Amino acid sequence: MTDLIFAATCDLAGKVRGKAFPADQLDKRLHRGVGWTPTNVQITCFDSIADSPFGALGDLLLVPDKDAGVTARFENSTERFMLGDIVTLDGDPWDLCTRALLRGALDRLQRVGGVSLLAAFEHEFQLTSGGSPAYEAYGRAGFEAQRGLCETLMAQLAEAGLSPDSIMKEYGPAQYEVVIGPEQGVRAADAAVIVRELTRATARHAGERATYAPILDPASVGNGVHIHMSFLDAQGMPATYDANGPCGMSGLTAAFSAGVLKYLDSILALTAPSVVSYLRLTPHRWSAAYNNLGFRDREASLRVCPVTAKDPASVARQFNIEYRAADAAACPHLALAAVLHAGCQGIEDGLTPPDPTEEDLSLLSPEALQARGFVRLPETLEAALDRFEQNDTVRGWFPDVFAPVYLAHKRAEIAFVAEMDTAARCAAYSQTY
Ligand code: GLU
Ligand code: MG
Repeated sequence: MTDLIFAATCDLAGKVRGKAFPADQLDKRLHRGVGWTPTNVQITCFDSIADSPFGALGDLLLVPDKDAGVTARFENSTERFMLGDIVTLDGDPWDLCTRALLRGALDRLQRVGGVSLLAAFEHEFQLTSGGSPAYEAYGRAGFEAQRGLCETLMAQLAEAGLSPDSIMKEYGPAQYEVVIGPEQGVRAADAAVIVRELTRATARHAGERATYAPILDPASVGNGVHIHMSFLDAQGMPATYDANGPCGMSGLTAAFSAGVLKYLDSILALTAPSVVSYLRLTPHRWSAAYNNLGFRDREASLRVCPVTAKDPASVARQFNIEYRAADAAACPHLALAAVLHAGCQGIEDGLTPPDPTEEDLSLLSPEALQARGFVRLPETLEAALDRFEQNDTVRGWFPDVFAPVYLAHKRAEIAFVAEMDTAARCAAYSQTY
């Protein structure tokens, strides 16, 4: 047997794709990578291929990053993969590499805000293999039924260098939630990919199947991805909190939040990018339906999270804001890049955030919403893509090639499920994610 390492990218479809090479070639591959094809970027989550500006032409390299490697040992086999960067043959970052797109956003945050990012992705997933009892929202029996899977997963996450925080039986049928501690910059998005991959692998080795699809049944809850963000200044000190700021937000956090909320409708196609994502983003599902700020309110797109500490230094360290309009059909790097750019735009433009809401916005008329500066977020992927396409500011945050490629990609995905009813769409997404 030859030990193989899978060099991987999490691509525009939010899929983890790549090629495996013999482990004894690692030194060479860390420099020269494995060959990659530009048009791969147009492979949708259903393996259809969208219109590609590259056709059959061109060559790229997928270069594994030694700091983003995972070795997951299971009883009968070991899985090894390494996330990496897609570069041109000259070694320059490729415009459609999702890690490069995130680095661009992190650099902008450093430039306009003078801060670096700490982020933690909180994930919900469901087991589709039947190994979880009914009527067990937050239940112990529901947890115990999968204690083995939960314990193996948490051990794998720690082995991968992440900080497992907690895991539980979530509200939905066979739904679980896994939380890890924050990581810096690109590592935070890498960590989200690693959580998803290790969950799927752990389930597979336990004879179960885990899915991160945004929703399995519109009559039930969705699987959210909540992105917790905080900032560190040049000295590595927390810069997110100010006791005298709105909801405890520092000036920087307030302007960042205002930017995220202002551009939310136009970045949604990047953070909730599947057709069924919009079944989840409806009122009363504790997801996100409006561009509102919540102070500890789970029915908001952007939430100021509670802190458990009392002393000022710990409060400042714990304080974070949570973006809730994301799901795991999105590549974490791309979703985070979009949120960061929106926040940076808010900082650059000196925006002020709206007052937090403490009411059911679905009861307000469209006029009343508009009068208070709220919008109902796009209700379909088509509408979300249109907002992205029409927003010159948002498109301008990315390299020129990005918008046309992404729009063609997502429209091909829409075409793939166009003739399916809702149940068939949910089933298809549950298979691919
Ligand atoms: N399942 C909800 C979602 O789709 C989130 C529930 C929670 O607050 O954890 O985002
Ligand atoms: Mg949850």
